[in-house]
Amino acid sequence: MAFRTDIEIAREAVKKPIQEIGAKLGISSDDLVPYGHDKAKVSAEFIAQARSKTDGKLILVTAINPTPAGEGKTTTTVGLGDGLNRIGKKAMICIREASLGPCFGMKGGAAGGGMAQVVPMEDINLHFTGDFHAITSAHNLLSAMIDNHIYWGNELRIDQRRVVWRRVMDMNDRALRDIVTSLGGVANGFPRQAGFDITVASEVMAILCLASDLDDLQKRLGDIIVAYRRDRSPVYARDIKADGAMTVLLKDAMQPNLVQTLEHNPAFVHGGPFANIAHGCNSVVATTTALKLADYVVTEAGFGADLGAEKFMNIKCRKAGIAPSVVVLVATVRAMKMNGGVAKADLGAENVEAVNKGCANLGRHIENLKGFGVPVVVAINHFVTDTDAEIEAVKAYVRGQGAEAILSRHWELGGKGAEDLAKRVAEVADSGVASFSPIYPDDMGLLDKIKTIASRIYRADEVLADKSVRDQLKQWEEAGYGHLPICMAKTQYSFSTDPNRRGAPNGHSVPVREVRLSAGAGFVVVICGEIMTMPGLPRVPSSEAIMLNDQGQIDGLF
Ligand code: ADP
Ligand code: MG
Repeated sequence: MAFRTDIEIAREAVKKPIQEIGAKLGISSDDLVPYGHDKAKVSAEFIAQARSKTDGKLILVTAINPTPAGEGKTTTTVGLGDGLNRIGKKAMICIREASLGPCFGMKGGAAGGGMAQVVPMEDINLHFTGDFHAITSAHNLLSAMIDNHIYWGNELRIDQRRVVWRRVMDMNDRALRDIVTSLGGVANGFPRQAGFDITVASEVMAILCLASDLDDLQKRLGDIIVAYRRDRSPVYARDIKADGAMTVLLKDAMQPNLVQTLEHNPAFVHGGPFANIAHGCNSVVATTTALKLADYVVTEAGFGADLGAEKFMNIKCRKAGIAPSVVVLVATVRAMKMNGGVAKADLGAENVEAVNKGCANLGRHIENLKGFGVPVVVAINHFVTDTDAEIEAVKAYVRGQGAEAILSRHWELGGKGAEDLAKRVAEVADSGVASFSPIYPDDMGLLDKIKTIASRIYRADEVLADKSVRDQLKQWEEAGYGHLPICMAKTQYSFSTDPNRRGAPNGHSVPVREVRLSAGAGFVVVICGEIMTMPGLPRVPSSEAIMLNDQGQIDGLF
């Protein structure tokens, strides 16, 4: 049977005017700032007013370690949201915005898939409401002001070799990773080595996603460390006097974007920080506002549960004062098979043995998530190639772990295919069994926080950190940053730092290569392994196939 592509389905969607979607949430058209007919921002006044309402239930969608077989977290988030609405619940969805650069690299959108998508998918995957452009501009304004400050005499005594604030653009462009700026003579300033990161890796992105309001946003922007002096003392964005103008550029970008699913249910698509050097969740403003407007809010964290869910709990929930009532752990039969050692080319053939073997990865995530005090429901995101025996194998394994796995066919059937999942998830959320707490307290030492994550989540035997790393962490503790949470940057493919160790590895160590302070975002980034902050394009980028067709529609975008 031939299936339509994501973009073919999205293109045929009959969308409702965005005002009708807002009305479902009690947002009047006065409080919506429409961007065309099918996208709108929610006014800051409305968000402020909604603060006094009681919160709905928060549902986190996360997944096993990703494999090239695909898991479908966003697809399941959207499908579950539609499923909850179908069974009569007032539910909405909160997901991240897409980064534009990767759209032209490898195929894969950020708007869900099959019959479980948010629309307009072309817009969501491209310019959308301009938030990422605003973030790019705010980031680069600060970059420009730093070099300008140095040019005009460097009153702050910035050590030009220690400027840590780079530039960003929303494009996969490896040529810009390391560059020399200010060439061309006296009028152009002092040459120095610099570079570009992709916009989603900007600390401004992480700040926008964690800030509670515009005042908090400006404070955090001011707290960004941009450079160090020769005596190693930090220079802040506030010292450069950039925080005010950056806030101005970000004013509209702070407001969540409302769109709809294929089934006309409301979704906020807002913010999109990297899930390695940042925390990988949509904005706090979107999630906390959604909790005021709906009884159930389904949201997603990036990568597998060892990275995404861990940061969702330890960073986002801690900082925003919110707590999940239930976690939905997405697994697929195909990914279980890959975790069990099957090559991608052989995934088509039934292999119950490999499914059983791969389930170890799933089991460890279940255990880990329960460690946060939150109940877990496993969603088997159904692929049409899955066999009954394989599905039964996953269900039996999960039962053995004291949890429940539910088959969900939202990709194929939309919300109707997710009704069973929705019923169970709502039941568990309503049962009140969750008693969430982060796995480390604020006042634990930074190195001990890292060790806690490594032992409790990665199940590593030890953390390897050079004296320079330990000294740096100590210095930050003395400078008053010891209360910050940790943002781990490691491979998403394994519990360990080796991407090839699938399943549930034991006996490994976690080498810490580097630590970075994101003082504005409010976390310490711990880098274990190679982390790319400016991706490149593949040999045959998908941009070669993206074009407008005879009807003026976009072809080739997924
Ligand atoms: P994630 O959020 O985990 O990165 P997505 O939900 O974005 O994953 O899905 C990635 C891709 O996989 C999408 O193109 C989507 O259409 C596809 N996909 C997801 N679930 C299924 C499924 N059940 N059957 C077939 N394709 C799927
Ligand atoms: Mg996703």
